[in-house]
Amino acid sequence: MPMRSDAVVLFGVTGDLVSKKLFPALYELTRRGRLDVPVIGVARSPWDDQQLVSTARKSVSEANAEVDDEAFDALARNLSMISGDYADPFTYQRLAERLRDAERPIFYLAIPPAVFGAVVDGLAAAGLAERGRVIVEKPFGRDLTSSRELDRTLRAAFDPRRVFRIDHYLGKEAVEGLYAFRFANRLFEPLWNSEHIDNIQVTLAEGFGTQGRAGFYDRVGATRDVLQNHILQVVALIAMDAPAADDIDAFREAESAVLRQIEPLSPDSTVRGQYAGYRDEPGVAPDSNTETFVATRLTVNSPRWAGVPFYLRTGKSLPGTATEVVVEFKQPQRSLIPAENGAQAPANLLRFRLGRGDGITMSIQAKSPGAEVTSRPVDLSVDFGAAFGRRQEAYERLLDDAMDGQHLRFARAETIEQEWRIVGPILDLAAEVQSYDKGTWGPADADALAGGWHTPDL
Ligand code: NDP
Repeated sequence: MPMRSDAVVLFGVTGDLVSKKLFPALYELTRRGRLDVPVIGVARSPWDDQQLVSTARKSVSEANAEVDDEAFDALARNLSMISGDYADPFTYQRLAERLRDAERPIFYLAIPPAVFGAVVDGLAAAGLAERGRVIVEKPFGRDLTSSRELDRTLRAAFDPRRVFRIDHYLGKEAVEGLYAFRFANRLFEPLWNSEHIDNIQVTLAEGFGTQGRAGFYDRVGATRDVLQNHILQVVALIAMDAPAADDIDAFREAESAVLRQIEPLSPDSTVRGQYAGYRDEPGVAPDSNTETFVATRLTVNSPRWAGVPFYLRTGKSLPGTATEVVVEFKQPQRSLIPAENGAQAPANLLRFRLGRGDGITMSIQAKSPGAEVTSRPVDLSVDFGAAFGRRQEAYERLLDDAMDGQHLRFARAETIEQEWRIVGPILDLAAEVQSYDKGTWGPADADALAGGWHTPDL
């Protein structure tokens, strides 16, 4: 097993990601005895150590109902700050001096992708890249070309085994649970194909807008922000074949194989929307054509999935926040028992809740009480929070894994390239986005696309 990192460097420590996710993760790792190494924040803002500690305290307090003071103080003792410009070699000299005793530092690039190149070059010039690991965040580039370019930049300085690409969905227990559900059970895998499954829907809904980050979002949009990475990762886990062996290479081969079978998305079966009022937000171009909503139909070109549409949708300012996969089964071969109203009984559904309140619900038909032999849908349901209690947050697990040099839960360059290939035809479409009202499920055309979406549990 590779040796654990002995220092953590957070570039962009003044930013949103560090506040929301990384400070709470570092605190939790400290609390569990998994982190007791220098944590160095780097940014252009003129912060001192005290400001760094007080910001960390604030974000840890916001993320936890109760803070363990002893654990936080232990983290605070390890925190220190370096302010400097990323184009200035002196910034990296000071960092190298601070990392004198660290043999395996890990560098987290929590900065806009446009700055990755300057930082990677600075680390390489200061002799830090050759002994360090690097973590980069999605989105990896803006399209296939820029993603390859980013990859070349990283590989020029870092050995590929020391590059960690975060798609934090891969760190979510519930997302990893899709894999366990399919391959740890005998029950469903025989049904997991076009003979028994009618369609699959993936919804990643946000009940909020751009949360003051419209300027950033306007250059990205829903396809790049969510569909290209999180949603396609989920599709891969749902659609892949069983790996040939129980090891990371076999898993990755199976994941790549299914991604290669996915056809590029078509503008003809894609609906892009923008919520009303978006163009008035600060930082948004008055004529912005950026989509805050996208719905599309995806085809997996394999015998297993022949004729099974995958409907995908994501958007901001929808009726609530939820991430769900709904697998809709076909009707029984002989429909002997109607619903109570005499109509055909609804299809069996398997609903995977991947967001807050994660769990699985299976909707089946049961006999309705009474003299008539009719059926009524009932739910068999598990709530993982109730069943398992607290589980690690995605960023906590991912930081822990990267510090250990473990790659399983990180996105691979090949996966990312496939994902860009798949979304390529629907990036930057000239056709005007369709407007939708906040608090609705997007433009009406999106409803027609799937012929009826299953509404997530909100
Ligand atoms: P921010 O926009 O908050 O930027 C982070 C920090 O980078 C800022 O505090 C700023 O610090 C510095 N920065 C901003 N612009 C520049 C610039 N032009 N040159 C140099 N430094 C700059 O980003 P986030 O924290 O939101 O995201 C960081 C990374 O993580 C990005 O790659 C983003 O795509 C990714 N990401 C973010 C998520 C989130 O929830 N926020 C989720 C998933 C991925 P200073 O001015 O002090 O140097």
